[in-house]
Amino acid sequence: MRDIRCLCGAIRLRIDGQPVAQFYCHCDDCQAVHGAAYVGIAVVPSRAVEIIQGTPTSWTYKTLLRQRCAACGTLLIARVPDSGLTGVKANLLPPDMFHPAFHIHCQHAVLPVVDDLPHYRSLPAVFGGADDIVEW
Ligand SMILES: [Zn+2]
Ligand SMILES: [Zn+2]
Repeated sequence: MRDIRCLCGAIRLRIDGQPVAQFYCHCDDCQAVHGAAYVGIAVVPSRAVEIIQGTPTSWTYKTLLRQRCAACGTLLIARVPDSGLTGVKANLLPPDMFHPAFHIHCQHAVLPVVDDLPHYRSLPAVFGGADDIVEW
């Protein structure tokens, strides 16, 4: 069980359990929403995420319902429709909790990120993708 918070502390979330997948996403949706080249995401079962303080602002960009703190703007989570899964912004997690296993949507990458992880062009097969790898 881990508690995480936005930058100003108005919103607190409790995560009960371990992530089912952790990765860096380079998709153009993440770039647009976060204003970043790519983001770290930990996917957890939606039932494992509880808002224990405050009321986040919700909005939907394309398909994902996203929530952020209205006071400080920190992006917190994104609910994946019909999956029972929620993506948590990895920068909010305790450092010992985020262990990314691969990169996804590298076809949209702003720049190469060279590390020892697999770099999937779209999605790995476990997410219904083609398992194509980009060579960086
Ligand atoms: Zn805040
Ligand atoms: Zn993304």
